[in-house]
Amino acid sequence: MRKTAIVTGGSRGIGFAIARQLRSDGYCVAILDVNDRSEYQHNLNQLAEMGEDAYFYMKGDVRCAQDRERLVKETVDKFGGIHVLVNNAGIAPRVRNDILEMTESSFDEVIETNTKGPMFLTQLVARQMIKQDFCGKKRGTIVNISSLSAEVSSISRGEYCVSKAGLSMLTTLFADRLAPEGILVHEIRPGIIATDMTRPVKEKYDALFEQGLLPINRWGLPEDIANAVSALVSDKFLYTTGCYINVDGGLHIQRL
Ligand code: NDP
Repeated sequence: MRKTAIVTGGSRGIGFAIARQLRSDGYCVAILDVNDRSEYQHNLNQLAEMGEDAYFYMKGDVRCAQDRERLVKETVDKFGGIHVLVNNAGIAPRVRNDILEMTESSFDEVIETNTKGPMFLTQLVARQMIKQDFCGKKRGTIVNISSLSAEVSSISRGEYCVSKAGLSMLTTLFADRLAPEGILVHEIRPGIIATDMTRPVKEKYDALFEQGLLPINRWGLPEDIANAVSALVSDKFLYTTGCYINVDGGLHIQRL
């Protein structure tokens, strides 16, 4: 069985950096994305150049039960099993609205993508991992990409905060349930990372960096998150589960 990872939202941004890093680490990689493939074909081409038979792209929606089932089935059919799941796909609200104006449709869309999708994809993947033999010292590793917003208030995008707080509780719940099965669960909280998601607020943060916003005072790079995932899924973390790690340049530190 080939060492295999699923990365949701893996054709651009943080997810692509994770997919590329895991390919370099020797994993076959399966990617789920809803976007039109052609727009990010250059990224997928990079993965193909690293081994055409070691990556698999599926256009699908993490919110859709049939797409989640197809992703797991086709990944197992192609590579023989699943050893790593990275729940990376996520969205911010389409429109920022004060919490007093938040719409139910925005709340539902963000929660379904950032929390409900990962919940039920993790359930499917965990059931598959439990059927497999140990690979090295564990059966598998699950990494949730949440956010500082899991505990920091942003009243103009409350649905995002609620969704990431929910994802964080999923880290705790699955870590508890899956440790006896030899599956470890981790959470990464990225800070301010230069991707499409943060492009609309680029000028705002450029100005804040000039004023010394962070102890490590620069934009985070997708590779900063990918390197953390690579370390967490390795056999170096065998007595740790249900924890989060801030990959945020020190953004979480309260400073006077
Ligand atoms: P991007 O917006 O650059 O990319 C998001 C990815 O998720 C895209 O590949 C997107 O696909 C995919 N996606 C979105 N909705 C779905 C869906 N319904 N089904 C399948 N795939 C989907 O985001 P980032 O790379 O910046 O963020 C990645 C993760 O990191 C997110 O969970 C985000 O919340 C989190 N994060 C990011 C931070 C940042 O500063 N950038 C800070 C803290 C957390 P498509 O191309 O089709 O839209």
